[in-house]
Amino acid sequence: MNRYFNFSAGPSMLPLEVLEQAQKEFVSYGQSGMSVMEMSHRSTVYENIINTAEQDLRDLMKISDDYSILFLQGGASMQFAMVALNLLVNSKKADYVNTGQWSKKAIAEAKKYGQINVVASSEDKTFSYIPPLPANIFDKDADYVYLTLNNTIYGTHIPDDRLPNTNGVPLVGDMSSNILAEPYNISKFGLVFAGAQKNLGPAGVTIAIVRKDLLGKHQAITPTMLQYSIHSDEKSLYNTPPTYAIYFAGLVFKWVKKMGGLSAMFENNKKKAGILYDFLDNSKLFKGTVVPKDRSLMNIPFILPTEQLNAEFIKQAQDLGFVNLKGHRTVGGMRASIYNGMPIEGVQKLVEYMEKFEREHKNI
Ligand SMILES: *Cc1c(COP(=O)(O)O)cnc(C)c1O
Repeated sequence: MNRYFNFSAGPSMLPLEVLEQAQKEFVSYGQSGMSVMEMSHRSTVYENIINTAEQDLRDLMKISDDYSILFLQGGASMQFAMVALNLLVNSKKADYVNTGQWSKKAIAEAKKYGQINVVASSEDKTFSYIPPLPANIFDKDADYVYLTLNNTIYGTHIPDDRLPNTNGVPLVGDMSSNILAEPYNISKFGLVFAGAQKNLGPAGVTIAIVRKDLLGKHQAITPTMLQYSIHSDEKSLYNTPPTYAIYFAGLVFKWVKKMGGLSAMFENNKKKAGILYDFLDNSKLFKGTVVPKDRSLMNIPFILPTEQLNAEFIKQAQDLGFVNLKGHRTVGGMRASIYNGMPIEGVQKLVEYMEKFEREHKNI
């Protein structure tokens, strides 16, 4: 078996152990006599799969009963519309913080449904930092404040201890690229969502965690499938959910539990990212692109002095089995995405290769 160290931003590496378990159960799950893919979503065996997944996620993230956990479709991108349609219901105003492409897309979508104010932005420096978020920039009358918690493309994040004080206005967070990677106190949020394909499993399921008092309202035009309340009332079984993706995410939840839960993930992710950041900080050739205090634990962009060196580095890396290191076109250079599924050896070996590359290009 030949598996690469895959540094893709998403879909991305999943724990080998989980892939192998899914493989073992692929043709026939337990005593059911069928694949999870072939099961009715209303069967007892499937209800047990989805309920267990929900409970495990609730345990891992310490989510209280004040919140509904929903398994939805349409990716995180669908949430850009869904958040606005369901929450722009009182003043129809919302405050957005623009920290990158995903924020921009969310802003563009929400503008169709209300008055969207961009209260802070880091676009002036290619989103290489998180702008200050003092309480006085937020409108007390807004229906919600929107943040992208980890900026997958630019490699910045807003950790739990730096979430802004929004004067009681519900906080909405896009957690697509750092869910289960670092701890957040969910009770600080009105709503959190995440597509699965970075830290949770295969693409196809999107998780939304919604405070129950925010349910029950939506703009009149909202399609039934885009109403949080319907999915909450029907326990994510209003229609056929992405059954296999939910099953798989459930296996990942069990794996995270077995590995020691979120605090263990967090420690391991700090260690992994630290190896790469320490190297970048001491290198004369490679350079990180993000302000140190705002650095993501998941996505680490870096550059070499010339385009030619970037291309050479990426090409050689690929030959050595370090794949998908090319940076986003708006940043250039390289980006190493090191989600929960990336083993620490992947980062160690990548840094060894970077050291070797630097030695071989000393005279540039
Ligand atoms: C990947 C990503 C998205 C988009 O996810 P899709 O599931 O492809 O719609 C949105 N926000 C963030 C932060 C992401 O990393």
